[in-house]
Amino acid sequence: MRLVLLGPPGAGKGTQASAIVEKYNIPHISTGDIFRANIKEGTALGQEAKAYMDKGLLVPDELVVSIVKDRLLKDDCKEGFLLDGFPRTVKQAEALDSELDKMGIKLDRVININADPEILIERAVGRRICRECGATYHVKYNPPKVEGVCDKDGGELYQRDDDTEETVTTRINVYMEQTEPLIDYYKNQGLLLDVDGTKKIDEVFVDITSELDK
Ligand code: ADP
Ligand code: AMP
Ligand code: ZN
Repeated sequence: MRLVLLGPPGAGKGTQASAIVEKYNIPHISTGDIFRANIKEGTALGQEAKAYMDKGLLVPDELVVSIVKDRLLKDDCKEGFLLDGFPRTVKQAEALDSELDKMGIKLDRVININADPEILIERAVGRRICRECGATYHVKYNPPKVEGVCDKDGGELYQRDDDTEETVTTRINVYMEQTEPLIDYYKNQGLLLDVDGTKKIDEVFVDITSELDK
């Protein structure tokens, strides 16, 4: 299955992605995770990306597109993949289409998770992530068993630098200006699956997978 997850920051893409890739046994390709891993390792790519991420702005298309192209050529993507947080601009979507064309493959579905800005801010500000495995929690909606500690591996939970109310607000505006046009882009290709992201985590998962399994 070849999937894209679309939706504003805090909608629940990463949360759903973890469960979807487990169910369908496909790799989870999150461009945000790739940038954060590079920042952690102190690479040149990480340094360049961080300047944009800290401001809540998008990393330039050329940079993101070349990373995704390389990733899609890896062996584990042969049977499918889930792109999470990519594409985020029409240019990125066009670049993805042309790359998939070259590879002789097509996307199966684009899952669009919807939620209103007030919900998004509360979700993003309360988000906590495991330093070891990257698992995502929420202080109120998806808390770990022990505060500040990952259920899976005991790793320390941290708050992302860009999950402040101010930066999340910028990210939502950037989403509306640059990413929202992709909804029509994929609707026109007949690929869009709209999902109500305001429901509970498990309910959103059922809504997505019941459609994918049809
Ligand atoms: P995204 O990847 O779209 O930015 P995440 O999956 O990281 O969003 O979710 C943002 C925050 O909201 C996380 O703290 C997550 O635990 C929480 N969350 C995700 N989905 C839901 C939901 N359906 N209801 C309540 N909280 C949610
Ligand atoms: P995310 O983890 O998806 O919330 O992304 C965090 C940040 O990484 C974004 O605010 C952007 O700065 C950057 N980023 C992630 N994916 C992309 C992308 N496809 N295009 C441009 N910037 C991206
Ligand atoms: Zn963990």
